[in-house]
Amino acid sequence: MSSKALEQFLDENIEDLKSRGLYNEIDIVEGANGPTIQIGGRELINLSSNNYLGLATNNTLKQVANEAVASHGVGAGAVRTINGTLDLHKELERKIAAFKGTEAAISYQSGFNCNMAAISAVMDRNDAILSDELNHASIIDGCRLSKAKIIRVNHSDMDDLRKKAKEAVESGQYNKVMVITDGVFSMDGDIAKLPEIVEIAEEFDLITYVDDAHGSGVLGNGAGTVKHFGLQDKVDFQIGTLSKAIGVVGGYVAGKKNLIDWLKVASRPFLFSTAVTPADAAASAKAIDMLMESNELVQLLWENADYLKAGLKDKGFDIGNSETPITPVIIGDEQLTQKFSKRLFESGVYAKSIVFPTVPRGTGRVRNMPTAAHTKEMLDQAIATYEKIGKEMGMI
Ligand SMILES: *Cc1c(COP(=O)(O)O)cnc(C)c1O
Repeated sequence: MSSKALEQFLDENIEDLKSRGLYNEIDIVEGANGPTIQIGGRELINLSSNNYLGLATNNTLKQVANEAVASHGVGAGAVRTINGTLDLHKELERKIAAFKGTEAAISYQSGFNCNMAAISAVMDRNDAILSDELNHASIIDGCRLSKAKIIRVNHSDMDDLRKKAKEAVESGQYNKVMVITDGVFSMDGDIAKLPEIVEIAEEFDLITYVDDAHGSGVLGNGAGTVKHFGLQDKVDFQIGTLSKAIGVVGGYVAGKKNLIDWLKVASRPFLFSTAVTPADAAASAKAIDMLMESNELVQLLWENADYLKAGLKDKGFDIGNSETPITPVIIGDEQLTQKFSKRLFESGVYAKSIVFPTVPRGTGRVRNMPTAAHTKEMLDQAIATYEKIGKEMGMI
């Protein structure tokens, strides 16, 4: 018998979400997550993934994953600190460090877990963290877990950052102060102002922490936002995920050897949770090899992104100020945005609406994620569908 209090809590809250149209029914994708996907027996052009380079369905990676299953089995077997660490995980970390241009790296089970792990391994209640107001949910949770004082900074506002850094440092209240930011902001596609952030960090001796989930495999010839600005020696923590451009699953922190050594003894998701499977580790390492050998896929991604952006803009849509392949079509009104996305779905294009509270009220948008795997025909069809629905709804 379950608790009455729990039943009441669940009934009330689920009902409340449903009545406000905020209860998300998750679509079932029947088969692989590629440039097209099948849902409900219908084929759709997929503009909703983070599979930037199309690597999630890459044949070489599938083969490498199969070989790793054959040689190492399906699971890592135990937490790495207890039962030894697989050679595949060490190899993956060696490659990540080379890819990021750092002394060392540590891998985790996800990007989300990196932020659970790394922030609280270094920051505590006697410290302060300057955090961009649009930072990812996992950064926010990671900061909370550390119990450090969280100081919200207006989005990419360098005057606000400088002022709050100065106040925090001059107050003498904190042992350490960190500045933490996404490398690329996922809702608008804008890039963090890392050169200015690093300059302010140097002035006030701040610890620098960049979560580059959406920049890795995309900017800096694939190596990420920090490399894009040539700041590999100036950023203390470079966080990344293996689930977006790399196409597999897992996360990592890259940095100086002493930092990585510390995370291996002090970060709880490393100490108390089993690592990704052999297949994940091997496929991710191979994906990184491929990115270091050639930037063909990265170029293809940008070509496709530029093509989609130009097409949508040409039809009269507001595509915001993205500096990366992330392509929002800003519609404004929340209900109109949701209706637009629904009409796209009915017409064969899978692009999700993003509305308040994920983005500010009145800035509802349909977010499009072009990838290297899309063909020009798919993008043309998506643009034509946008045009049809935009006209139908009297928007263009
Ligand atoms: C997507 C994302 C994550 C989560 O990565 P996972 O590997 O899917 O857990 C973390 N941080 C940022 C900034 C992200 O965009």
